[in-house]
Amino acid sequence: MTIGVLALQGAFEAHVKALDSLGIAAKLVRTPPELADLDGLVMPGGESTTMLKFLEKNGFFDVLQSFVRHTPTFGTCAGCILLAKDVKNPTQKSLAALDITVERNAYGRQIDSTILTAPTNLPGNPLEMVFIRAPRITRTGPGVEVLANRDGFPVLVHEGHLLAATFHPELGADLRVHQLFLDIVQAHRPS
Ligand code: GLN
Repeated sequence: MTIGVLALQGAFEAHVKALDSLGIAAKLVRTPPELADLDGLVMPGGESTTMLKFLEKNGFFDVLQSFVRHTPTFGTCAGCILLAKDVKNPTQKSLAALDITVERNAYGRQIDSTILTAPTNLPGNPLEMVFIRAPRITRTGPGVEVLANRDGFPVLVHEGHLLAATFHPELGADLRVHQLFLDIVQAHRPS
């Protein structure tokens, strides 16, 4: 299974380590051709506006948009913002692949970043979730499955081949969310 991690900006190294712990040697993706032959892609947290600036070069945005339409992709925080159909606070361009609305920086400023433990629909214990200037998911479409909530708002969502978290599973020791993504990738591989 070949997994890429979008490495334009942000917390991509932590995703590479998490995947390594699950036996996957992930490839860093910095140019459109590097998306070829991937079975799945992780889009990390960071700053979605900065990532968009990089994506505007070399037609990367359009290539990535057709990629995420069909290939399993996992977006965390800024990566979740990029995947969302609608982005608010302020309105922002996105890949518009995942049927959710997100509000950027909805939990406050950097100082309000926090670590919570909450129940999830994942097998096993409650999940520790690291929030850093996180977006809030304010709407989910009918095809979107909510796997965890914070204060009644979804924080981990799944729709078909797409998975998104408004927190940073790559910064904790719990590998269940990455394992879930690998299971989604496995399920979508051509037999
Ligand atoms: N606030 C950032 C944004 O709007 C996301 C923060 C994060 O990825 N930790 O892109």
